Amino acid sequence: MVKDLRKLGILFFVGLVTLLAACGTSDEGDSDTASADGEYDLEDTYTVVSDNSFVPFEFVEDGELVGFDIELIKAIAEEAGFGIENDEIETTNFDGIIPGLQTGQFEIAIAGMSITEERAEVIDFSDPYYESGIAIGVLADRDDINGLEDLDGKTVATRLGTTSGNYLRENVPGAEINEYEQMDQVYLAVENGSADAVMYDLPNIEYYIATEGNGSMKVVGELYQAEDYGIGITAGNEDLVAAINDALATLRENGTYDEIYNKWFSDAEGDSEEGTEED
Ligand code: GLN
Repeated sequence: MVKDLRKLGILFFVGLVTLLAACGTSDEGDSDTASADGEYDLEDTYTVVSDNSFVPFEFVEDGELVGFDIELIKAIAEEAGFGIENDEIETTNFDGIIPGLQTGQFEIAIAGMSITEERAEVIDFSDPYYESGIAIGVLADRDDINGLEDLDGKTVATRLGTTSGNYLRENVPGAEINEYEQMDQVYLAVENGSADAVMYDLPNIEYYIATEGNGSMKVVGELYQAEDYGIGITAGNEDLVAAINDALATLRENGTYDEIYNKWFSDAEGDSEEGTEED
């Protein structure tokens, strides 16, 4: 009898707790959908900037800015529920992107930008969205440069403000480093012989060789520094960073990321030098 009463008491207690818990949650509504539903405090639109000379991530084709990064950031904006200011992604030279984020001229940057400690001190980064790294390219018929050790005393072309320039300064002090604003100037320098090699992001060199470069160059040596690309965000926008990260995770889960990836990286071999692919 005493035992039964106690059992009843316990049951009553459990029931009460369950009831209270249910009331508690119903107060906050049922929304358990992701970022788009006001979980984060976002502006309606943000200024987005990219680079215009980094195949196949961002480049101009028939007057239009296209590429992997461009499609990814549009999908992220849609998923996260914010607009792109003026419906237009601005472009600037790569070395202008971080200063622009620091001054607030741009709020979001997607530009194949490698996440580094130094940069993370002055801007915020999203989670990594692409695994990359830097490599060496030389003219296809050249056999005297087969790796980093052969760059000593040589002229190496790369791009201003990028991780490759820093890597060369630290690791090949004997090389002459020529840095250009635009990638077509970098590849031209190798092709016309004013530079012996290019050091730069591997996916960019590979894509260039397979398309516009038409096999004129080859990659030698190894991947000298693994790097992850991240989306850059003006420091102090925690909610925007979180919303972008949530959206990126959703796009990875629902197949959108793969779709965009396959479009730009699986058919990269060979045939798009005239920019014939349809949208
Ligand atoms: N990933 C390189 C960097 O961040 C180059 C990027 C680019 O040229 N767009 O330095």
